[in-house]
Amino acid sequence: MWRACHNSLSTKANLFQRACSNSSTCPLCDCPEESLEHLLLFCSHAKATRFGSILGFHPNSNDFGSFRDWFHHLMDFFSQPVQRTIKHVCFICWSIWKARNAAIFQSSNPNPLQTFKQAQNALEEMQIITSSPILSLSTYQAQFSDRMRSWSPPAIDHVKLNTDASFEHKNAIAGFGLVMRNATGYLIDGCAISFPYSSPLTAEGFAVRAALHFAISRGLSSCTLESNSLQIIKLSSSPSLSVPWEV
Ligand SMILES: [Zn+2]
Repeated sequence: MWRACHNSLSTKANLFQRACSNSSTCPLCDCPEESLEHLLLFCSHAKATRFGSILGFHPNSNDFGSFRDWFHHLMDFFSQPVQRTIKHVCFICWSIWKARNAAIFQSSNPNPLQTFKQAQNALEEMQIITSSPILSLSTYQAQFSDRMRSWSPPAIDHVKLNTDASFEHKNAIAGFGLVMRNATGYLIDGCAISFPYSSPLTAEGFAVRAALHFAISRGLSSCTLESNSLQIIKLSSSPSLSVPWEV
């Protein structure tokens, strides 16, 4: 919205004005000039998207100033406690901008109903996140005591490394996180790395190997290593087991 209020979005009109495009025509409705105001408010796609909104705002293009003035006026009008309205407007504009970009760069067919739903979902998601209370340490410990009890500290003067891998099948990327704690549970060190993903087992194996490298790089002569991959732990501690080829 900051960029919109400063008219710094790459609309066709702005690109044409800067000689970066040979046309200022709106890619969605063939209007001769895709200005910021047209894109976010007066394009047929924007109007149809807003139609699904309960806000019911329909600015008049005949006596309209700039998007910036209109939005500032809106913020003045809908001050506390109706800030949800402003957020709603912001998410609708953002969703319109994303749908327009998807139409240009991914040749997708803009669907106003879908655009509106995406704005609605984003708003709901933000409401949930911002309304969630920030837990105090004591509340957190009370709520998650079962999980916290599952971690047992290492012996005095020893450290424990806990590692876990996660995977994203779609983009073939895995990552792992590692924390090193002492006997009091104090976090001494840690790291997180992403790497190409081929299978859950190789990712877990990579995480354990990386944790061992980490321990060596910190000059540890002994430490405890915990992983939630039982198979990797068994393979590491039982040389007689046959190791799957991918590991
Ligand atoms: Zn248009």
